[in-house]
Amino acid sequence: MYIGALDIGGTKTIVGIIDQNGSILCKYQFATNTYNWQQHFLSCCTVLRQCIDSIGISCDDLYGIGINMPGMVNSKEGILLKAVYKGWENIDVKSFFRCETGIDHIVIENDVNACAIGELLFGYKDAYKNFIWMTVSTGIGGAVVSEGRLIRGGWNCAGEFGHLKVEYEHPALCPCGQSGCLEAHASGTAITRYTKEAIREDPLFEEAFSFHKQPMDAIGCSVLAKQGNHKAVEIYEKAAIWLGRGISYCVNVLNPEAVIIGGGVASSLDLMTDVIKLTTEKNVHTTLSGFDIKVTRLGYEAALLGAAALVILNSK
Ligand SMILES: [Zn+2]
Repeated sequence: MYIGALDIGGTKTIVGIIDQNGSILCKYQFATNTYNWQQHFLSCCTVLRQCIDSIGISCDDLYGIGINMPGMVNSKEGILLKAVYKGWENIDVKSFFRCETGIDHIVIENDVNACAIGELLFGYKDAYKNFIWMTVSTGIGGAVVSEGRLIRGGWNCAGEFGHLKVEYEHPALCPCGQSGCLEAHASGTAITRYTKEAIREDPLFEEAFSFHKQPMDAIGCSVLAKQGNHKAVEIYEKAAIWLGRGISYCVNVLNPEAVIIGGGVASSLDLMTDVIKLTTEKNVHTTLSGFDIKVTRLGYEAALLGAAALVILNSK
């Protein structure tokens, strides 16, 4: 079975062909044109055709196409309700791609929900049927799986963990317009902010970045932390306290068997796991504390694999 998978993100888009076992047969990444969605969707169709050609199949061989959108969707109707880019509102994504590709079976979903569905089908599979999925990257997104099913909520927006309030004493402003959100305190963007603040205060810390030829951001800070730089370790531990607070809320409400973390910051989760565990132990009811904290098994391609999983689980 061949499935077309489109992961349309805020900065980059990945188009690929995936088989029923979750093997990526072909993929191509390019920048998202957020200024003109029509143009961008047409480019996605062109790249999809190139992928089809490159593995020697035809459009008719595709079982369906799964499409992740960077915003709120009505997956039942196949409509993008709203993304933060100008004009990306009330778009009938399903009809557009049906019309352009001639393929009938098209499923669209919010990108983080897709990651959770991908984890269910290709990642931890039978290991967990009740878990929360968190993307910790530029921002923080989430999804909830209960009894093997995605929990959507009334407006298909359940799992907005990034906007749980975790800091009341010194709340930082979140892109959502409110303050004290988890995203404002524990995302990759927040870790970069702490890194830059620490560099301004401590010339020796700045020198460590120059010496190790690392960028002065969350990634560079993680490299230094892994080498034992105390200040860098402290920065990750600080973010871990807030992540732990946010996770505690989720655990007390949802009783997950696991918290599965993806996104860029997931590769630095080992710097934070102990502190997250300590923080959650203090804040989670003892009967709920036996949950696991895991990095996604889907790696960098979680969302792309999730797009394919959507098509398989929403069978024709
Ligand atoms: Zn927020």
